[in-house]
Amino acid sequence: MKSRIFYTKPSITELEVHYATDAAANGWGEKCYEYISRFEEAFKTHLGVNYAIATSSCTGALHMGMAAIGIGPGDEVIMADTNWIATASPIVHLGANPVFVDILPDSWCLDPELVEQAITPRTKAIIAVHLYGNLCEMGKLLAIGEKHGIPVIEDAAEAIGSIYHGKRAGSMGKFGTFSFHGTKTLTTGEGGMFVTNDPELYEHMLTLSNHGRARGQTKQFWPDMIGFKYKMSNIQAAIGCAQIERIDELTRRKREILSYYRDHLAILPGLSMNPEPAGTVNGAWMPTVVFHPETGITCESLQAAFTAEHIDARVFFHPLSSLPMFEDQPQNRLAWNLPGRAINLPSFHEMDFSQQDRVINVMTKILDGNLQS
Ligand SMILES: *Cc1c(COP(=O)(O)O)cnc(C)c1O
Repeated sequence: MKSRIFYTKPSITELEVHYATDAAANGWGEKCYEYISRFEEAFKTHLGVNYAIATSSCTGALHMGMAAIGIGPGDEVIMADTNWIATASPIVHLGANPVFVDILPDSWCLDPELVEQAITPRTKAIIAVHLYGNLCEMGKLLAIGEKHGIPVIEDAAEAIGSIYHGKRAGSMGKFGTFSFHGTKTLTTGEGGMFVTNDPELYEHMLTLSNHGRARGQTKQFWPDMIGFKYKMSNIQAAIGCAQIERIDELTRRKREILSYYRDHLAILPGLSMNPEPAGTVNGAWMPTVVFHPETGITCESLQAAFTAEHIDARVFFHPLSSLPMFEDQPQNRLAWNLPGRAINLPSFHEMDFSQQDRVINVMTKILDGNLQS
């Protein structure tokens, strides 16, 4: 039987094991924050931002960040309908309402024109999610935000390694957030990062993230406000330190994998893959294929074909507005239509070309079959 091909799996070397072991053995007492500070410093340097706070997840970083900029009951936050739920749930927890707009046909990220049309007096933020490593049109989104006085937040959970005209994803908005979940390019098992260049926002976030205890507060155990507890542990940060030292290697490998798929698949008629417009670098978190409607290829037939070959393939994100918690918005036509004819391809770092060839074969076979029938 053919070996199973996983869709993602972290790249863990002796360096990660060495740092994690050291943190577990020695990272206590006065050393209990050492790896956390080191990870935050290294992340700031990598991203080119002034401030970073390690968190327990990207969801937590988004929750705190949106609380810190004052998003609350009755407010509206504009985001793409195509998304993971993690971007929407903190909005709901804050009593605000996510407003879902449709996506662009090439990047599958939110459509700036529809964003501007969706702005109301209640709009308090726009969240740009760089889907699968594909970049949002940040120039247009930042201009819209500036014109209407609305902050643009970057959920860069999927976009470490992506660069927009010289600026790294996550470094351009009011604040940015990252995920280090086990499926992401850089992992700490679970974990996240909040980044910003705004000194006041950073100071407020430090207080919020420490159960509302301000840095300058001299009274012990004295919170000045209700805060949050979404911290990263020193042991997780130790793994993060090793991963960020290897970040160029980690993203280079992801890009190689996407590029090999592109060389063999993007040349075929009837499908599109992750774009990389001039002036940008795609961090290539998740290679994705979208079949054109006329091929008649469905997500179900793709999954069946992959399962038969022991290959994990992941469905394209369902439109959030189709979930039971939200109101259907089928007018977001691309967001509603794409998942039925799209698939995420396996892309773990240690994947070899023969494994990629197995994936490519499944794709070409199904495409041949459908074009002939
Ligand atoms: C993975 C992901 C998250 C959630 O990250 P966690 O660290 O699991 O909270 C949020 N947003 C996007 C776009 C993601 O892909």
